[in-house]
Amino acid sequence: MSGAASGILQACMDCLPAGGAALHEPTFGGREREYLRECIDTGWVSSLGAFVNRFERDLERLTGAAHAIAVVNGTAALHLCVELAGVETGDEVLLPTLTFVATANAVSYCNAVPHFVDCDATTLGVDAVKLEQYLEHSADLRRDGCYNRATGRRIRALIVMHTFGNPAELDALVTLCRRFNLTLIEDAAEALGATYRGRPVGNHGLLSALSFNGNKIVTTGGGGALLTNDLALARRARHLSTTARLNTASGFEHDEVGYNYRLPNLNAALGCAQLEQFSDLLERKRALAERYRAAFVIVKEASFFSPVAHAGSNHWLNTCLLAQDDAGHRDEILKALNRHGIQARPAWTLMHHLPMYCDCPRMDLAVAESLERRIVNLPSSAHLMPAGGLQPERHLV
Ligand SMILES: *Cc1c(COP(=O)(O)O)cnc(C)c1O
Repeated sequence: MSGAASGILQACMDCLPAGGAALHEPTFGGREREYLRECIDTGWVSSLGAFVNRFERDLERLTGAAHAIAVVNGTAALHLCVELAGVETGDEVLLPTLTFVATANAVSYCNAVPHFVDCDATTLGVDAVKLEQYLEHSADLRRDGCYNRATGRRIRALIVMHTFGNPAELDALVTLCRRFNLTLIEDAAEALGATYRGRPVGNHGLLSALSFNGNKIVTTGGGGALLTNDLALARRARHLSTTARLNTASGFEHDEVGYNYRLPNLNAALGCAQLEQFSDLLERKRALAERYRAAFVIVKEASFFSPVAHAGSNHWLNTCLLAQDDAGHRDEILKALNRHGIQARPAWTLMHHLPMYCDCPRMDLAVAESLERRIVNLPSSAHLMPAGGLQPERHLV
């Protein structure tokens, strides 16, 4: 076994239970069963019900966003974000190549073209400085927006993604969007509870998307939410996600092509129970990250990823970054970990390497390409740490 594989394996074994751990499992430690039973007993299982409203108000309190609209999954939330941002057929939308495929798909659903941008290694998010330099020489600012000089298409929006729960450099990205007349959308699917300069993410652009898939920091089984501070956009999001139905006697009047995207009450019930435990989940995940950080200090072939000081991670998915010289050992490392029951995985295949997106416009993507070779995600479930805070001896280190 290479030094990299044995060092990383040892560090993980020091942090995890004997026998290993899954990459990310949900933690059901609260009133989940009680709330689900309530849905069944009252018959309110579908897309109307008290838990949907309560879940939305809970999300507004947690994120500081004025409006949360709960939908069937994070992808649907992203789709609505892109449509509501005014993205039209033939527009381009900037987004990181290092992301889950849903970010790019949401753009395609609007008949728009993803335009891939690079990341920086300190945040794993969009590199604002590199993107600004790129736009300076490849985009034209006209009266009605920003245009790609090479394709002639309008560049309408930028989607930033908070990778593994680590906030992107939002101040610089907000400034860049103002300068180039781009609408900022946050794909905060992985980042509920993460903060940027003390303020929750999902609250910095015009629109944001959250996900509550089974592997996310809290789950509704499947689910998502759109966040915005704009009342008119919130109303439109609600309208579009309920088949654009008008409030008439028949209930069968619709004024545009809408979607059946509302979150069922059954799923929202699970979400309400999960959010009651949210601060405890965050604390346990933070403690697990601390444990990894301490164990990786002596591993010279890899570093445990830590965000910059003003970016508060929710520690959704713990990440180690292989040293440049050890990138070639990635697959061997993954195999060694998995053989010991430690479910580890590489980063997503970059968007510009996927067949449906390989011809899309893009800037130089060297950092994302390097990160793709060097990222190893490690088991991160909250239940790997005890409930109710840290063990005292861990608190001291
Ligand atoms: C999970 C995820 C989504 C999509 O969420 P679903 O609820 O699975 O549809 C979108 N973007 C990113 C970055 C994600 O991690």
